[in-house]
Amino acid sequence: MARKESNVLRRKSAPLNGFVSQVRLARSLQTVSCVVVGERELKRAEGPLAHEKQDEAFISIAVAKRRFDAQLGQRLLAFARHKRRPVARVVAELGLVETTDAAQIARLARYRVARAEDKVYAEVAARAGVIDRREAAAVLVRQRDLYADGRGFIRLAALLRSDKRITPETDRMLRSRVRAFEKAPKKECVRETCRALLLVTDEVCPTCGAHAPIPVANPSGSEWRLSEMSSVG
Ligand SMILES: [Zn+2]
Repeated sequence: MARKESNVLRRKSAPLNGFVSQVRLARSLQTVSCVVVGERELKRAEGPLAHEKQDEAFISIAVAKRRFDAQLGQRLLAFARHKRRPVARVVAELGLVETTDAAQIARLARYRVARAEDKVYAEVAARAGVIDRREAAAVLVRQRDLYADGRGFIRLAALLRSDKRITPETDRMLRSRVRAFEKAPKKECVRETCRALLLVTDEVCPTCGAHAPIPVANPSGSEWRLSEMSSVG
């Protein structure tokens, strides 16, 4: 007990404290990455926008956790972009958030972004007839449960591939459709209980079967709801 306390004191009074914590953060940001089968390959496919999305998610989570307000959050985001550095590191270095806290928020942000991407992937796979909607929703549930059990965040494509439900070729085809889906204009299902995200060109909601008439406002950003995939949390 006594030794523990003196360790804490020594750590607190160390002259290189700032540097040490920077290194620690850098390390924790590297090691907490949710890694899996084919992750490197998937990383390559993520594209340059993944990092920006993660930074935005980081700020939105930190604001929700009341680490700072939304206005400061936006300024931090702009500052980090200007400096071309991860916002998690910038925030920790400014002392706004403890390093371990920053690492945890960064991990949540990565999860949120990857999970949102995989919901789009599931939607696209269902639309392509590669898997049916019920199966797509079930795989998303399994992904969430594995993560909750501490088994890591396993990308949907990796789960489907290990189940032999898709081949690498199908995966490539789905990825290009995901990109097209993300670019295409969207509308929301008009049914209150559904609110699935549809393409403007959809005449019927694939989830609930509701007629999908006039395009409404284009919902932006990462808070999309994707048919039943969205209820999976
Ligand atoms: Zn619907």
